[in-house]
Amino acid sequence: MNLSKLNVKLRIAVVQLNPQIGCLDETISRAKHLISIIKPHPPDIVVFPEFALSGYSFHSSKHIEPYLYQVTEGPAYELSRHISKQLKCYTIMGYPEKVVSPNDRSINDKCFNSAIVVDSSGEIAFNYRKSFLYHTDENWQCLENPAGFQTFELPFKKKGRDLQTGEMHDVKLKTSIGICMDLSPYKFEAPFHDMEFSSFQVENDSELIVCPMAWLHSSSVTNQDEDSKQKKERLTKALKEQGLPSCGSQGKYQIDIEGADTATEIPACKPLESEQDHRLQMRDTNYEELDQPDVSNVNYWLLRFLPFLACKLRKSWFSERLLVPVIQKFKSGRTSYLGASTDKSWLFEKKEAILVLANRCGVEDGITAFAGSSGIYKFNGKYGDQEESLDLSNKSVSLLGNLSKGYEGVLVRNVDFQVRR
Ligand code: GLN
Repeated sequence: MNLSKLNVKLRIAVVQLNPQIGCLDETISRAKHLISIIKPHPPDIVVFPEFALSGYSFHSSKHIEPYLYQVTEGPAYELSRHISKQLKCYTIMGYPEKVVSPNDRSINDKCFNSAIVVDSSGEIAFNYRKSFLYHTDENWQCLENPAGFQTFELPFKKKGRDLQTGEMHDVKLKTSIGICMDLSPYKFEAPFHDMEFSSFQVENDSELIVCPMAWLHSSSVTNQDEDSKQKKERLTKALKEQGLPSCGSQGKYQIDIEGADTATEIPACKPLESEQDHRLQMRDTNYEELDQPDVSNVNYWLLRFLPFLACKLRKSWFSERLLVPVIQKFKSGRTSYLGASTDKSWLFEKKEAILVLANRCGVEDGITAFAGSSGIYKFNGKYGDQEESLDLSNKSVSLLGNLSKGYEGVLVRNVDFQVRR
């Protein structure tokens, strides 16, 4: 088979928001403001966080009820359609979904934590439902995606340049969505190294991976904490010291648009380098330096994508056939472990993929602080026999841009990567 290579260039925007439950109109107007700022630099895709407009920390079915909508109705769909038509792009946005049984209204609605993909004509291109649930989702009887992780084709007109002929082609990118906890071990019970989500992505040759998230900052009080009272006090104090209300910052924006001059209230994050990363990482258990990304989370997310990362040890594990028994034990058609299959030492080698993490920021209930730090990453499939470090300093990944942990804002990057067709 003679495969040609297409060079794909896309402009991707990530909108980082701090939505609070009951403040829909305010959140929508801030989202619209951010979109108006990127209008002169229209992206091909705009990505919003998990539960981007509604807020996240719902405590019961009754609490979330007024915010649940069927896929083609409600504020997330309306706003996505508005943005997609205005900017002629795809909009991907997380929202609380209900599925109403058509024949029998007495049957309870099924509820999901979902993300819609709306195309430039305002039509639904895909609707993904979260597969792995966080305990907050379980509070309101959210159901797991019965289809599990999924891939779908996202068509782009004349975006792929044939590297041999120079001709421009339409290209359909193999795309996949993961909503926050999808990146974690199933129920926090599965073995860390199973890497369910990212293994699915390498096995299925995903080229564009988009993750709307409401990922927690480590200062959050969760039901696993023994020192919850002290943690809450520390978070309250941190907010007070920064002159912020208990919900964190809203309406102070960090704008970072590649190629544009944007002096904003919150200066764009500097590119992360490993030594500086280390310094920032040391402080990340407190909710402070809100204008900087949360490096410990950035590195943790990368680690969850280990199958995409160059890793020198992988070759020896492969040649000594150490991984074979693990792969053989997996059920339901899974064919790889830590990025290796039984017949290839690194499935992702010589491939390229783009990862978009759109995380929310802010604080809910005075105890749940979100980590922000939305970013756009490129995996290059190289350096497989060199790399040992499984963090940002690994040469097989570049962080193309990052937002801060505490401020709302928008990040726009031009990505450039190769796919085979
Ligand atoms: N693992 C994620 C976290 O700890 C889950 C949160 C979510 O699914 N929203 O923040």
